[in-house]
Amino acid sequence: MKLGIVGLPNVGKSTLFNALTKAGAESANYPFCTIDPNIGIVSVPDERLKVLGELYKSEKVVPAVIEFVDIAGLVKGASKGEGLGNQFLSNIREVDAILHVVRCFEDPNIIHVDGSVDPLRDIETINLELIFSDMEMVERRIARASKGARNDKTLAKEVEFLERVKAHLEDGNMAKSLVVEDEEEINWLNNYQLLTQKPVIYAANVMEDDLTEDGASNANVKKVREFAVNEKSEVFVICAQIEQEIAELDDEEKKEFLEDLGLQEAGLEKLIRASYRLLGLISYLTAGPQESKAWTIKVGTKAPQAAGKIHSDFERGFIRAEIVNYQNLIECGSFNAAKEKGLVRSEGKEYVVQDGDVVLFRFNV
Ligand code: GDP
Repeated sequence: MKLGIVGLPNVGKSTLFNALTKAGAESANYPFCTIDPNIGIVSVPDERLKVLGELYKSEKVVPAVIEFVDIAGLVKGASKGEGLGNQFLSNIREVDAILHVVRCFEDPNIIHVDGSVDPLRDIETINLELIFSDMEMVERRIARASKGARNDKTLAKEVEFLERVKAHLEDGNMAKSLVVEDEEEINWLNNYQLLTQKPVIYAANVMEDDLTEDGASNANVKKVREFAVNEKSEVFVICAQIEQEIAELDDEEKKEFLEDLGLQEAGLEKLIRASYRLLGLISYLTAGPQESKAWTIKVGTKAPQAAGKIHSDFERGFIRAEIVNYQNLIECGSFNAAKEKGLVRSEGKEYVVQDGDVVLFRFNV
């Protein structure tokens, strides 16, 4: 699962990316972290794993991860191929969601490409490039589909739909705000993989002084929030510079630093969790003396497919899953104690795995 970090130059993308990968590299220790300087594998903070690791005296604790890609260079004119634009747009095509960094901090020493700090104008600049790129894609599809549409009713219907998408984009709207009418239209739209169909989190990059939980003191953040509500996107207030500093600290120093700022946890950790949620992901857990581990699944995944994340044999030979809710397990103190209290359930093929399920799969080999 991949998140692409976009935004105009000098808004704090690399600062945020560096903070994310630094924090992620330290807790997860993934050897493939450094293969590509623009890709960072980041672990998803999960208190539950630490507790399970202690309960089972696990040798290893393995968190869930998500991938962040630093997509620099998206500038005005990118959709026309300016500034290597098309390459960046194709990088965005490959991600599952977008983290759009917006400059809300004032700093006379750091030049803004458009001369002043104005988050709504910046958002519009980037979004327009994405919209232009989608329009081109939709026009190409219309041209192709129109050829066969005379003899094919479904294709003719699709061309009509494509025309609607085009008009929607031409009005400056993102594809995700298009009102779709039925299953067929949903499938078509998903199939086009438009850039403006992807979920977005706006990361409002503020000054240290504005770093309260909701950033309410910053007028720019307020504007971004109002804008995002209409678009049904999330907003996250962050100070990239502070996060980078925090990422350099060890645990003890970090705690003190956060206390001084009056914060409970680093913004980064919350941001990673929010991203995970945005991608529609949850974790189920396995625990044992060898390792306690969080496994990533999409909301709605059934038990055999969840088992398949561990090994394809688990999915093929799936018999049932023994499941206890994390909270119940901790309260009882052990799997057996939970079993005695009737809190361990035996679930079959149709069971939809929940976040925080601690699972033991039974399967045929
Ligand atoms: P990018 O071009 O979007 O990747 O931007 P950078 O991360 O390189 O940041 C551009 C400049 O802004 C750098 O000099 C950063 O140190 C600075 N910067 C980034 N975040 C903040 C922030 O939250 N506050 C202030 N004052 N400066 C920041």
